[in-house]
Parts: sequence; C-alpha cells; structure tokens
Amino acid sequence: MTRPSLLRRALRCQRRFFSVTRASSADFTHAVIGAGVVGLAIARELASRDGTSTILLERHGAPGTETSSRNSEVIHAGLYYGKDSLKTKLCIKGREMMYDLCAKHGIPHRNTKKWIVAQNEEQWEACLKVNEHAKSIGVPTRIVGREEAKRREPEVRADGGIVESETTGIVDSHSLMTYLQGDFEDRGGDVAFQTAVTRIEPINGGKEGYRIFATSEDGSEDSITAETLINSAGNFACYINNMILPPERHRTPYYAKGTYFSYSASHPKTSTLIYPAPMPGHGGLGTHLTLDLAGRIRFGPDVEWVDDPNDLKPSPARLQQALPEIQAYLPNVNPEAIDLDYCGIRPKLSRAGSATTGKGFQDFIIQEEEGFPGFINLLGIESPGLTSSLAIGEMVKNLIHR
Ligand SMILES: Cc1cc2nc3c(=O)[nH]c(=O)nc-3n(C[C@H](O)[C@H](O)[C@H](O)COP(=O)(O)OP(=O)(O)OC[C@H]3O[C@@H](n4cnc5c(N)ncnc54)[C@H](O)[C@@H]3O)c2cc1C
Repeated sequence: MTRPSLLRRALRCQRRFFSVTRASSADFTHAVIGAGVVGLAIARELASRDGTSTILLERHGAPGTETSSRNSEVIHAGLYYGKDSLKTKLCIKGREMMYDLCAKHGIPHRNTKKWIVAQNEEQWEACLKVNEHAKSIGVPTRIVGREEAKRREPEVRADGGIVESETTGIVDSHSLMTYLQGDFEDRGGDVAFQTAVTRIEPINGGKEGYRIFATSEDGSEDSITAETLINSAGNFACYINNMILPPERHRTPYYAKGTYFSYSASHPKTSTLIYPAPMPGHGGLGTHLTLDLAGRIRFGPDVEWVDDPNDLKPSPARLQQALPEIQAYLPNVNPEAIDLDYCGIRPKLSRAGSATTGKGFQDFIIQEEEGFPGFINLLGIESPGLTSSLAIGEMVKNLIHR
C-alpha cells in the first residue's frame, strides 16, 4: 500500500478542520515555502490568528538543514547597514525579540559582545565610522582602551584600536528552530516535510489564491491551494519567484560561499567575538572569530563566489588564504590546530553586492508583489537573517493583515 504524501495527509486534516470552522474555497489560508529559520518564524506568526490555517512546505525531512544551520549563530547588533534599510530595522527589532524569546523559553544563548579590531590607521578610520554610524541609529557601541583590552582579551592584537558592540551575542540556532517548529504546531500549523514545490499557478491572477504543486520523496505529485503564498525558500527563492512572476520580473540568483574553520587547541582563548575592521566592497564581514555556546572558537566565514548553491564542500585552498587574516588579530594562534569545518552559502541578488553600507549594498527584499495579491516574496535574505527572523515574521504578518 502506498503511503499518502505528507502534503496529502496535511490536506486531509485540513479538510476536516475546515468543515467545522470556516467556509473557503482554498485548502489553506497561508502557505509558506521553506522551513528555514525565517520560514518557521513567519509560519509561527501567521498561525497565531484564529480561524486561519497555515501550512509550511519543506523539501527536506527536517527544518533548517540549509543556510539556517550553516551560519555563525551570531545575534547581530545591527551596526553596519543604512539607517532606513530593512536590514537595520529588522536586525535591531529582531535582536531584541530574539533575546526576549530565548530568555523566556530557555533557548541557549549568550550576550558575548563583539570587538571590531583595527591593525592600522586606515582600519581605525573604518572602525570609527562604524562607531559613529552605530550611535546615529541608536545601537550601543564604545571604544575600548588599551588597558581594558589587555585585561579582558590579552591574546587579541588590535594595534589600531577597538570598537565594542555591547549587544552582540550568540544563539543555539537548532534549539531556536526546534522551539519555533513546536510553537507553530501548537498553534495549529501543519508542516509538510519531503515536499518540494515544483510549480505554482496563480488562480484568477492571484485574486483567488495560488495552486501549489509539489513532489514527495517517492516522486508523486500533489497540489494544494492557499489564499496567500509566502516565498521563504532561501537560496532557491529566485526559482520560486520565477515560477510566478512574468519573465521581465525574473531574478538571477548569485551565491557567495563562506567556509568555516574549526580550532582544536585550547590556547589562545577569547570570550568575546572578534571581527576585523569592515572592508568596503567585501561580500562578507571578513574572516572573524566566533564562539559556540561551549566556548569553542571557530573562524570564518570567508567569501568565495560559486555557481552551484549545493557546492558545500570546504576546499583546502581557503585555509591558506584565511590564515594571515586570522593571525592579524590572534598572533599566537596555532596553525596546526585550524582545520576545514563546514560551509554556508549566502543568497545574493548581485555579484557587486557589498555586505555593509556603500556601493552595491543590497537590502533584504520583503514585499507583496504588485499584480499578485497575497504573494509575499522574500529575496536576498542573507545575514543578518537569523537575527532578523522573528521581526521578519512580524513584518510579513503585518503585510498580510494590514
Ligand atoms: C556563511 C553564513 C553566515 C551567516 N551568519 C549569520 C549570523 O551569524 N547571524 C545572522 O543573523 N545571520 C547569519 N547568516 C544569515 C542567515 O543564516 C540566513 O539569513 C538565514 O538562515 C536564512 O534563513 P531562511 O529561512 O531564509 O533560508 P534557509 O535556511 O536557506 O531555508 C530555506 C528553506 O527553503 C527550502 N526550500 C527551498 N526550495 C524549496 C522548494 N522548491 N520546495 C520546498 N522547500 C524549499 C530549503 O530546503 C530550506 O530549508 C549567515 C549566512 C551565511 C551563509
């Protein structure tokens, strides 16, 4: 006997639910594509309204197995982006929401703080610009004096100076996603794993919702309908965009791979996150030092443009390039204890994209698409997407219910 697909099972439960609660021609009120941290946060927000039904469609067998489990797990302060950008607004709001949620529900996290370190005059100028900008947008930062630096982090070199971000921290992203999935289901939401969306048809131009076709693990195809559709497919969001919008609104995805390096020696140690001064035009924040909740150091990610979003194999050549960057701020690091670890891929909307303010800066795109009512598109959700996830969930809910 063939088992019904997870999509069909969710649909059956839904039809029973609908028969007693509401009359609607669509199977679900909301369908969210992608169970990364952002899709989970959105689905959880949408599931909190009475009389609605939300389904989360995920092609893998578990939540967050792509970019959401391949990042630095840093709760960013929101230091680097333009005042009016979504990245700034959602990062600041999301950071506050994240600390509150973690404290309330026992999700492991720590306010480690972060140092941005300069080794020369030019880098110090860049750090001072970050400091000024942070103050102008209300993100707390301060300059750390030499004595204090020596006392707190004797192993860290910062010949040009240090700016500290006081609200930066770390979170256990897996615990966070487990919590979000559980809470979504407690609120009545359905998750259909092993369900890869392959095709989408707007019904009457989207005015009556969307028909979503998906294949299960065994290759069989099913479809459901939903009144609103949220594209939160991470590195594959451009493909979903191109399934719905006309050719002139198609998007080309670009991928910036980041490689991480593990550190197995117990010396030197730090208790603060260490970032190099930001370099204009750099696709990331430089090869930095982050910590996991057990206090283990990891370095990275670097930036390497790749054509394949599944190209997740770390390459030994990256280690040679990263080493001098690491030694610049951690001179006593033991090179033999540094090893290739894992990779993550940033969804970029252009190759010129700078990670911070300045030329080529690409903001998050989160919008209801013109001419396609109820289709909310999320594109370019790179860093600080983890930090912003809860605020993005709230923003999408407001877009739908405004
Ligand atoms: C190297 C690196 C470091 C980072 N560090 C940080 C950090 O320290 N702090 C921070 O705030 N942010 C960080 N980020 C950013 C953060 O990780 C992402 O913004 C966030 O994880 C994006 O989540 P998401 O849910 O949008 O995407 P994903 O986690 O990629 O989830 C998308 C989901 O959609 C599913 N999907 C795709 N196509 C389909 C389909 N057709 N049908 C069904 N399902 C589909 C995928 O399987 C996937 O599970 C980093 C990112 C990278 C790459």
